[in-house]
Amino acid sequence: MALFGKAREDVQQPPPGAEPGCGCGAPLSPEALAAIERVKTKKDQEHIFFGAVQSVCPTCLAPVSGQLVIRDGQVHMRKFCSEHGRFEVLLATDAKWWLRSLTQTKPGTIPLWHATERKTKCPDDCGLCEDHQQHTCYPLIEITDHCDLKCPICFAENKQAWSMSPEQLQLALDRLGQAEGRAEIVTLSGGEPTLHPRLMELLELTLKHPAADKVAINTHGLKIARDEDLCRRLADMGVYVQLQFDGFNPETYRRLRGADLSDMKRRALDNLSKHKVKTLLITTVANDLNEDAVGEAIRVLFDRDNVYAVTLQPLAYCGDARANALPHDLSRHMTLTTLLGLIEKQMGGVVNKEDFVSIPCSHPSCSAIGYFLKAGQSDWVSIARITHADKILDYLQNKLLIDAESWMRGIKEDQANLETLWSASAVGGAPKVQKALSCCTAAYAKDRNVVGVSKMIGIHGFMDSSTYDQGRAMKCCYHFVTRDGRMMPFCNYNIFHRDADVRRRATEE
Ligand code: SF4
Ligand code: SF4
Ligand code: SF4
Ligand SMILES: [Zn+2]
Repeated sequence: MALFGKAREDVQQPPPGAEPGCGCGAPLSPEALAAIERVKTKKDQEHIFFGAVQSVCPTCLAPVSGQLVIRDGQVHMRKFCSEHGRFEVLLATDAKWWLRSLTQTKPGTIPLWHATERKTKCPDDCGLCEDHQQHTCYPLIEITDHCDLKCPICFAENKQAWSMSPEQLQLALDRLGQAEGRAEIVTLSGGEPTLHPRLMELLELTLKHPAADKVAINTHGLKIARDEDLCRRLADMGVYVQLQFDGFNPETYRRLRGADLSDMKRRALDNLSKHKVKTLLITTVANDLNEDAVGEAIRVLFDRDNVYAVTLQPLAYCGDARANALPHDLSRHMTLTTLLGLIEKQMGGVVNKEDFVSIPCSHPSCSAIGYFLKAGQSDWVSIARITHADKILDYLQNKLLIDAESWMRGIKEDQANLETLWSASAVGGAPKVQKALSCCTAAYAKDRNVVGVSKMIGIHGFMDSSTYDQGRAMKCCYHFVTRDGRMMPFCNYNIFHRDADVRRRATEE
């Protein structure tokens, strides 16, 4: 019997004069034959092991190690908790894109001040401790935990009990300034910030504070839909509005937000457009629920002049989303690359996967951005395609390894502009971003009918306990600024620290 093909048949022919049992062809013992038979049953893994990360059990949050494996062109994380067993969660539907994104990274910037010391372990010392690998690009301050909605997917776990006083905001901004100097934009969030009785005062305070260049609010938009005067005042102050927008389907809103808000969203969009308020849409996408919202949000972006950006985010199962148990099939977990696939499918070639490049300041698996310039009446041109942004941003990782000066002399200026654009602190529609865009696309735009309007599409794959990777959190640049002045990576705050926040113990002012 040929066990290993020709080679085995060869050794089964004893050479002339060979001694029996010397191993060169004499009959093998039954035990040896059985062992060889067993060898035949050895199989290769069905996946490629890519590495291990520090993660947590999705059930009890105990620290566990996660194995990153690539199988059938997808990336998964496997983990084991001694109490709750084995888990495997989908991390990326497109392993090729994911692997490529890992090369788009750059050295972090050290914060000017660390609010916490390394005393125990990550993530317990969040704040930022001295082991953190990036400063704060995008600071967010929750100013109230009142909200008139009760979204089943809310991660804020509102207690309807607390609103920030101007003095408390002043302290948070002072601490932000101490750590960061000046942030491009500070977002006031909640809860629902428009329910804060002193919202205008807080906005003015933020705008005057040296730690903030611009200010934004995160809102569900109900007050904006009902109160045109509010829109007018926000426009006058130059406040950016980040509007929760999950598409136009009433059923989506019933499932994700607990009520049909589709008409309210239309009215909010109209009021914001009428008063030319700079608007960013934040679209949460859930499997089998509102995949269509991806195309709807991008079409609103391209159609409305005052809407300068869309951030698409896969539903993360934190806070109420975890507790309310919207169906969560780990093998189909919605990922950043799932959204890239949906964009391609729904935007019919106008927007493609290749138009997106990972943001290199945070961990490259966290988020990606694409920029688009208007050419002619209705065509949109991808900046990544005309500037080869991916190749230029690759330079960022190489500059530690090679002689950057000679390698990049020709496109150094483009690189600086692209670093401005592909940053978590980039504010679409803001003068700094517009300037960087016009510089690095000037050659392309020269002979074409390019209008100086740019639109930004971002994808942000927030983690939850199923996908948690400590390494991603350690390079995070999206930070909650807590009232006691700590900066905490969003994902860490939502997964581990929210309940312990000092605000939970604060009384109503
Ligand atoms: S995530 Fe960063 S700040 Fe938080 S404990 Fe880890 S290293 Fe420190
Ligand atoms: S997700 Fe936003 S709008 Fe919905 S309940 Fe939470 S804070 Fe309110
Ligand atoms: S908030 Fe989470 S997903 Fe976003 S950059 Fe930070 S660690 Fe990454
Ligand atoms: Zn467990």
